[in-house]
Amino acid sequence: MKKIIWNLYTITNFCENCFKKFIDFKITDVYIFCKFVHKSIKVRMIIVGITGGIGSGKTTVSKVLTALEYPVYIADDEAKRLTNTNLFIKEGLIKLFGKKIVADGFLNKKMLADKIFNNKEKLQAVNNLIHPVVMKDFTEWKEKEFSPIIFIETAILFETPFHNMVDKKITVTSPLELRIERLLKRNHTSEQEIKSRMNSQMSDEEKIKLSDFVIVNDEKTAVLPQIQFILSCLRS
Ligand code: ATP
Repeated sequence: MKKIIWNLYTITNFCENCFKKFIDFKITDVYIFCKFVHKSIKVRMIIVGITGGIGSGKTTVSKVLTALEYPVYIADDEAKRLTNTNLFIKEGLIKLFGKKIVADGFLNKKMLADKIFNNKEKLQAVNNLIHPVVMKDFTEWKEKEFSPIIFIETAILFETPFHNMVDKKITVTSPLELRIERLLKRNHTSEQEIKSRMNSQMSDEEKIKLSDFVIVNDEKTAVLPQIQFILSCLRS
């Protein structure tokens, strides 16, 4: 028992007293307690990036992690929220595309999509506007989290400086045909449009090379045990 306590104590970063007192609690509870009691204590936190191509199952994996009570920052959702609410982004978009890009305070998504479609320069300009704001928002979000492991889901982990903000990287991968089938079911887009979006993304092979873990979401291999294995690696 002493050895287990010592091992846990050394891998974490909270004070010995709180640790001993709360040894029977879940590790997250100890962190919360310790941070609550000793506000200045540095809590060790592992930040994990989840990425993958469209339709690979990133959000599905994130939902499992959320159900397991791990905090997950969904960068795509937050980027959409910030694009509609952040003044700096709105003003930047207006400078780039004119006033019509924001109608009644809301972003004209269709117009934006049309403007950046096949226009790498404009796409880059929009990304340069949005990404730093999302990164700042993520930094603020993680400061409020107490969990020893937190996650960020983004399709463009390796294409943006986000990969420098995470300690570990996971790529979710699925066979191409299955991804197309899923997206045809979910979105009202054509197969051609889906393929063109896929071709514009970094390949799975490249992502896997840069990742610490891979989750195979081929609807044959169970996802939960893969997630549990990764969590056990992250905790050890
Ligand atoms: P995007 O980047 O387009 O948002 P994503 O990588 O986040 O996609 P999901 O949204 O998780 O992928 O999955 C795409 C679709 O496939 C969803 O409708 C989801 O319900 C379905 N799906 C994903 N994984 C599975 C699975 N293992 N079994 C059945 N359906 C699945």
